[in-house]
This record gives sequence, C-alpha cells and structure tokens, in this order.
Amino acid sequence: MAAINSNFLKLKAGYLFPEIARRVKAYSEANPAMAPRIIRCGIGDVTEPLPPAVVNAMHEGVEEMANRETFKGYGPEQGYEFLRQAIVDHQFAGLGISADEIFVSDGSKCDTGNILDIFGKGNVIAITDPVYPVYVDTNVMAGNTGAADDKGAYAGLLYLPCNAENGFVAAVPETKADLIYLCFPNNPTGAVATRAQLEAWVRYARETDAIILFDAAYEAFIQDPAIPHSIFEIEGARDCAIEFRSFSKNGGFTGVRCAYVVIPKTVTGQAEDGSRVPLHQLWSRRHSTKFNGASYPVQKAAAAVFSEQGKQEVAALIGHYMGNATLLREACTELGLPVFGGENAPYVWVGCPAGLSSWDMFDKMLNEAQVVITPGSGFGSAGEGYFRISAFNSRENVREVCRRLKALVA
Ligand SMILES: *Cc1c(COP(=O)(O)O)cnc(C)c1O
Repeated sequence: MAAINSNFLKLKAGYLFPEIARRVKAYSEANPAMAPRIIRCGIGDVTEPLPPAVVNAMHEGVEEMANRETFKGYGPEQGYEFLRQAIVDHQFAGLGISADEIFVSDGSKCDTGNILDIFGKGNVIAITDPVYPVYVDTNVMAGNTGAADDKGAYAGLLYLPCNAENGFVAAVPETKADLIYLCFPNNPTGAVATRAQLEAWVRYARETDAIILFDAAYEAFIQDPAIPHSIFEIEGARDCAIEFRSFSKNGGFTGVRCAYVVIPKTVTGQAEDGSRVPLHQLWSRRHSTKFNGASYPVQKAAAAVFSEQGKQEVAALIGHYMGNATLLREACTELGLPVFGGENAPYVWVGCPAGLSSWDMFDKMLNEAQVVITPGSGFGSAGEGYFRISAFNSRENVREVCRRLKALVA
C-alpha cells in the first residue's frame, strides 16, 4: 500500500481557471456564431513575442551548445555567475545584495511553492485576501492548514483582508505571524505598496522575528519613481526577507522559464534547539539537491534582458502593456465603475456594477460582450464584487474590449 499525502485532498479542486474554461466552452458551444468574437483578458500570460536581444542571445547559446569547443553540460545549480552578477548589477545595485545570494531557477511559481521545503511545522502563515492562489495551495499541500470552509478559506491560515478601504495593501496584523507572503505590484489587484507601508512590514517582521516572502514578479511595471521595486530597498529587510523575481513578465519568458530567488546570508530561522540557521544555507542545499540548473541558452537569453538593447526592448514591451492598462482603466472609469490598479501593474481591478457578484459580471461580460475576465472571488472571498482585467494583450484587442465595455453597461 502506498499512502498518499492526504493534504492534497483538502485542496479546492483548482476551481477558478477550470471553471472559467468550462463556462467559455459552454458559451461557445451554445453560440457558435459568437465564439470567434471571444477576447480573453483572463489569464495572466504575456502575448507579445520575445525581445530581439533575447532571441539573438538564445540563438547564440544554442550555437555554443552545437560545438564541441563551447558545448556545456550541467551548469552550476545556483545559476551561471554571468547571469547572477548581471542581476545584481542591474536590479540590486547599491542594495547590498551579492551574486552568491541569487539562486537562478526555472520559475517563480515553483520557487514560491518550493520555499516551504526549508520551513518547519507550526508556523503561522499570513496570506493576503485576495491572493495569488499558489501561496495558499502550496501551504495546503505542505500540511500547513486545516480544511477549507465553504468560502474556500483554510483553517490555520492568517488571512489579511485587502479592500478599497486599505487600498488593497494589507495592514500589519495585530497578532503574531511567522511567514508573510507579500506580492507588489500585486496580482490580482494591481496595488503597489509605498515605502512607508513596506517599512511598516519590515519593522513588524524584525520585531516579531517573522520572514517576509516578497514576490516582485511585476516590479518592471512600476511607473511611479517613489514606489520601491525591491523589499531590499527597505532598511533592515536583509535580516527578514526573501525576494522572488522572474523574467516571465518583464522579458516575456512565461514560455521560456527563468526566475530567481534572492536570499541574503543574514536572514535566519530558528532550529528546534533554539539556534539560528541562515536560510541561505538551507535553500542552497535544497536547490542543489532537487534542481540541476536552468538551461544555458535560457540563462544567456535572461542576461540579454540587461543588455542596452535588451533594456530598451523590455521598456517598450512594458510601455505597450501599460498603454493597454491605461485604456482599460479609462473605459471602466467611464462606465462609472470603481477602478483600481493598472497604474504600476498590468492588472486592472474593477468593482462590479451594483448588485452583480464577480461571477455574475463574468457571465455578463461573456454573454453580452464576449470578453473573458477573471472573477475577483476566485482569488479569495475578499475579491467578491470585483473582477480583474489583464492588460496582457494586443493593442487592437484592448481597443475592441474598450468599445465593447462602453456598449455594455450603458
Ligand atoms: C506570473 C507570476 C509569477 C511568475 O511566475 P513564473 O513561474 O516565473 O512564470 C510569480 N508570481 C506571481 C504573483 C505571478 O503572477
């Protein structure tokens, strides 16, 4: 008999995106003439091709692999020095982060889930509501929660409600937390945290001996120069924070796969005997045991994101998506709906028209405008009454979505 990890049975059967797919399929089958009109503004995936600097570097990497003299087998598990150094120079200059505190991987989704390997049982885990569902589900799998209630909230997690009153930035809790997941710019709400708000979190973490798991996957979308891009811009964060970064949303690497974790050597957790252990040491051991490095052509391509040409091309990509976000914000504002996000993030978070739930609005948009959005309640019960529109699309599609939105609620 092979006993299973019964924690998996507590998971709410990944209901958000499968349910969206089910409703879109049902609508298409019932209305075949309308099916070609459907525009998807739901899933958070990039749409534009890779920047040419990235493509060229990847081609070069493949060429090197094709020749005996330059062929490479296994690389360093932690990532090639050339990439880790480029990351430090271009993303963390002046923040006291060194190249050996960077761990290159094949994605932030895996990293944010895998990080739980190095933490023990019994931690109080704080999670914002609404939230990127990966943080919740990986804690369920790891046995860090009880069962879910009928609203999908798991016993044992400390939920931090985010709402219009707090600008979708969770306040520091009154009670003790050990691990805190923060994501800024936020998916799904598009909210960003000010320096003062991040300072409050770092102060809380240091005072209560907590660890902040900071997901900065969307930092490249920040337009406001006053908003920090990294938690390590906050004094004291080197002692209490881990940061997750990805090439998915800036370089368009969602199908290429490359990301990294930043773990300062000064962040520690507590062993059973009360001694302090650097998390860097544990993650290094975990990473080199369970991971064999990201592919060489991919790391070469990732480094090209920081070349002069790469930076310009990435800036143009971000500009494209943020132009979309501006149009979507304007269209929703014109409808008289409450609009959040979309100014420093590729997601626009919109309050539903009076009387409509998140799923009501999803159905209305699908049936009347053939536009697929994401119902806010799918990200947590505090997301009820909102929907998320993604700016990841062609300009043409976004203009069409705006036209249909205006025709819709009016
Ligand atoms: C897209 C996204 C990531 C990046 O995931 P990858 O696995 O690197 O593609 C990380 N966090 C959030 C919140 C995201 O939306």
